[in-house]
Amino acid sequence: MSERVLGGGALGESAALAVAPAGQVGEVGTADEVGQVGEVRAAPGAGPQTAATSVLSGVGVSAGTAIGPVVRMTSPEPLPPPRPVADAAAERSAAERAVAELAADLAARAERLSGEAKEILEALAMIAEDPTLGDDVRRRVAAGTDAPHALTEAFDAQADLLREGGGYLAERAADLEDLRDRAVAAVLGRPIPGIPDPGHPFVLVAADLAPADTANLNPDQVLAIVTERGGPTSHTAILARGLGIPAIVAAAGATGIADGTNVAVDGTSGTVTVGVEPAANSADVPHARATRAARTQVDLADLGPGHTKDGHPVSLYLNIGSMKDVRTGAQGAGLLRTEFLFLGRKDSPSRAEQHAAYLELFNAFPGARVVIRTLDAGADKPLPFLALPDEENPALGVRGLRTARLRPEVLDDQLAAIASAAEAAACEVWVMAPMVATPAEAADFAARARAHGLQHVGAMVEIPAAALRAARLLEHLDFLSIGTNDLGQYTMAADRQDGRLPDLLDPWQPALLELIALAAEAGRAAGKPVGVCGEAAADPRLAAVLVGLGVTSLSMAAAAVPAVHAELSARTLRECRELAEQARDALDPAQARALASRS
Ligand code: PEP
Ligand code: MG
Repeated sequence: MSERVLGGGALGESAALAVAPAGQVGEVGTADEVGQVGEVRAAPGAGPQTAATSVLSGVGVSAGTAIGPVVRMTSPEPLPPPRPVADAAAERSAAERAVAELAADLAARAERLSGEAKEILEALAMIAEDPTLGDDVRRRVAAGTDAPHALTEAFDAQADLLREGGGYLAERAADLEDLRDRAVAAVLGRPIPGIPDPGHPFVLVAADLAPADTANLNPDQVLAIVTERGGPTSHTAILARGLGIPAIVAAAGATGIADGTNVAVDGTSGTVTVGVEPAANSADVPHARATRAARTQVDLADLGPGHTKDGHPVSLYLNIGSMKDVRTGAQGAGLLRTEFLFLGRKDSPSRAEQHAAYLELFNAFPGARVVIRTLDAGADKPLPFLALPDEENPALGVRGLRTARLRPEVLDDQLAAIASAAEAAACEVWVMAPMVATPAEAADFAARARAHGLQHVGAMVEIPAAALRAARLLEHLDFLSIGTNDLGQYTMAADRQDGRLPDLLDPWQPALLELIALAAEAGRAAGKPVGVCGEAAADPRLAAVLVGLGVTSLSMAAAAVPAVHAELSARTLRECRELAEQARDALDPAQARALASRS
């Protein structure tokens, strides 16, 4: 499995050891604990708001509050066109200086780390200092190439060599590309791209964040995330919730906040208060970490299986994308997003690598059920190794199961790896395909999966066509799992990445509830389970509505399980059905919510 060490992955481990400069120490808490931050209230610990305080609004997508200094993320900018080299010696020294600074920076960061992360950074520092690389840069400059292009070509040549080496070496090629971008930015005097590593906890501000960047963030270092783009059910938002990092998307103007400015972020209300006093002192940090740990390391064993007040069972599963999302005592995993294991990978994961990754996750749920989803690539989840063509409308293009039309061998490899891991595991493995649109696709997927010996085969219902024809799909399948994030997007024709359309993407939209009801009814008639694994399942009141609509299981991030469990335990199945009835009949999401909260 590839781990990017320059993007806050292994490198981010440094946070636990880093000493934040006085006045730059961040603080994190739940909304309940430290109060809501807004125009008129400062979060305790933030000190008084200054006269210069202002508030930015966005869409809160991951609850909790944090106070800390902003550090902005910059994306690599395109290389300027090549230019003639007037002074070869000066050009050479500029390139050498950039590489030397890079190597020194890596070595200094490695000093602050231990274990594997330290070794990786030391290895990268050695690559940067490698005389072969330096010689190659000098040779290219001597041949008339300017410093930025000489660096780019030399680093790319090294990365190609690593890729040819395959296996672990190939995985480090992406790190070399990060090194390249950093060296080129240094020589051009541009801000260094990538997830920043200022050496102290900070609030990460970015125009947008790719899921691969978010997955590698270190929650000890990144106090909160604020982006200018992104939507409530975007994968970045989902990953931030899984990591327990408060997050706000669609906060217009956020990237205009200067680095070092102290902000208070409220991931519940979606507000960023700019210019607050720094958090009180470093003694708050252990408390802050403990608070976050309490939220992200819940032990679910005490809760027991999900059920309504009158004992109707509703399995409550976890949505997982890596071992970080696993919690003890869970009833099982209702959605294992396999693409999260391989985001950004340029080389295909081998069957053996996939087998090992899946087996580790399966074994984290002994005796329970794990629903593993085949790769859902495309749109905002790029898997470069699939080499998918660029598309005008990626969300409507070759994504999910459709990628198997272009690369059937990738699906077969994955099914083989899932089947072998399932055989070795001590849990019950169910497999499902994302983005199934037609009964023919369902039949084809089921035949392929069963040919590999997989016994429980299902599909996601994420496209209205699949909900409308759920009964036909179930003629070929053993179960369905409703992905309300995509089903909402495609029902309302509203991009889930777009934070400007939260009302249309609201999972309480009665049209979405109608489609869920259709799929659930098809499951009831066929005697087959139909669950929900989209973010809608994590809203306790909506969870009761979904149960009332007839879904048989709910799957969500671990942090949401206790509240959903409590809500269901407080309502009979009949009450859930009444809520569902009212929500379906409502005019709009606001009315659906209001009716459901009255009862
Ligand atoms: C969904 O669409 O609701 C879903 C669970 O899949 P993903 O969020 O990974 O697209
Ligand atoms: Mg989906």
